[in-house]
Amino acid sequence: METISTVTKFDKIKNKEKGFIVITTQSHEFNIIHRVSCSYIMKKHFIKKMDSKVKKGDYLWFDSIDQVKQEFSDLRDCKQCNPLDRKLRFS
Ligand SMILES: [Zn+2]
Repeated sequence: METISTVTKFDKIKNKEKGFIVITTQSHEFNIIHRVSCSYIMKKHFIKKMDSKVKKGDYLWFDSIDQVKQEFSDLRDCKQCNPLDRKLRFS
């Protein structure tokens, strides 16, 4: 797991197009998982989050879905990129 703390790092991870990004919130009730390639992962959103006067969360990068599941038990699936594949989860 890596915390994406700078724009340089954000670009590097986006360019690799590999792995998953979890966007955390202060409440930890609405942590959302995305694929790195997801169109919802945008630099302007990242910069806005990093710029907040009271930082409310992080962008975390994970190599594999198994690593994510070790760290978080409760995640919201991005509706755009569907990384957790809900169809399988409820079978
Ligand atoms: Zn997504």
